[in-house]
Amino acid sequence: MEWTRSETLALAMPNCTQCHGSGLRFTKKGTAAAPCNCVLRSIFRICCDRFRRCVTQERHLSRISLEPHAGRQRPSSWGRKDEEYIADFCLVAKRVLDDFEHRMFRYHFLLGADWKLCTRALGIDRGNFFHAVYRIEQKLGRVFRELEPYPLFPLDEYFHGPSRLDPAARLPPPGPDADRRGARSPHQQFPSPVGKTA
Ligand SMILES: [Zn+2]
Repeated sequence: MEWTRSETLALAMPNCTQCHGSGLRFTKKGTAAAPCNCVLRSIFRICCDRFRRCVTQERHLSRISLEPHAGRQRPSSWGRKDEEYIADFCLVAKRVLDDFEHRMFRYHFLLGADWKLCTRALGIDRGNFFHAVYRIEQKLGRVFRELEPYPLFPLDEYFHGPSRLDPAARLPPPGPDADRRGARSPHQQFPSPVGKTA
């Protein structure tokens, strides 16, 4: 994918010393543009906020949506996008981060441990903690946007795009007992990892 100024401008920090608010950094030749770290961190934070909203909302409020499906056999299918998003968010982190970063990700971003708890649990100092937080945010922010074929960001496109659940694992359209079936489907809880077969 190509990063453009029209996309990065809204995500950049206005007072960033690296990109001066444009969100792009140019190579020496001035041709290829790369996203500034402030943009990558913004993307991560937006995705992380959405993740927290998904995991803290009442389970029965999880939105069931009719999604367009790329396959021929079933033109559309029912799924719970929030649960798919929660799984994707965690699976991408697990795949992209190294062991130390992933422990930190779990403690700080998933469990909400502050820097004091994290530094004690991981045996690092405060400076290393904040360096690691930035590194994790930048790594994941980039992958959330560049992931193919289904990036997690922009969220609008993710939540209105096709599902990546195995067609065989999809739920039938909701009937009288749809809630009971949906809540207990193991495939709904653990969809296939994104990008594994891509
Ligand atoms: Zn910047």
